[in-house]
Amino acid sequence: MVKSPPYEKTLHECRQFSLMNTHALILTLIIVIFLAGCTSVPEPAGPDISGYLTPIDSENLARELGSAPAGTLTPTEEQDILFMQEEEKLARDVYAALYEKWQIPAFENIGGAEQTHMDSMTVLVDRYQLESSMQDTQGVFSNATLQSLYDDLVARGSASPEEALRVGALIEEVDLADLQEAMTRTDRQDILQVYENLAKGSRNHLRAFVQVMGQQGIAYTPQVLSPEEYQAIVSTAAERGRA
Ligand code: MN
Ligand code: MN
Repeated sequence: MVKSPPYEKTLHECRQFSLMNTHALILTLIIVIFLAGCTSVPEPAGPDISGYLTPIDSENLARELGSAPAGTLTPTEEQDILFMQEEEKLARDVYAALYEKWQIPAFENIGGAEQTHMDSMTVLVDRYQLESSMQDTQGVFSNATLQSLYDDLVARGSASPEEALRVGALIEEVDLADLQEAMTRTDRQDILQVYENLAKGSRNHLRAFVQVMGQQGIAYTPQVLSPEEYQAIVSTAAERGRA
């Protein structure tokens, strides 16, 4: 019987030792990764605002409204529809610009809903065969008031993430006030239904922006709405369902 030379035993032990070390190393790595996962600081993703987005299914809306009722719109009703269509675009475009600037998720998510709000106004434009001079291009407006408002708001919101969030809340306030005025200028149920859905969206978006600001310790005071109306909105839960 030939005895293994001592060096072979040593080599064998070395291999075993090295294998043990590898196992220990892998185990240590797993533990370290696990602990890192447990103790890491959460990303500043902000509150979950998914319940506040309020998108509108414009295809469903068009189907539901059917063909336009007899009679023509008043010039005021026409103007209001065309203005509100482009005002929803203003919200979409300002949020797109501010998302590009700051990558705050709320602007991307709420901006996506604004596209559907704009589309729901286009349903009314098509339904009454109105001539809209709105262009889809981001940041370009046919209405001079909305063009200068866009330029002003993007400039203000580009100063800091805090200013951007304040601009978001302001847009929702302006949108809501304009919708409420437009609602006093028509008796048509189809138009009122679309406006009421957009107003609900604006109240939910206002709640969302105020929550995002609140989480960052930013206090917001209303710029357009009365303190009572503002408080009634932000102190209540997200509105769900359809108007
Ligand atoms: Mn909207
Ligand atoms: Mn909105």
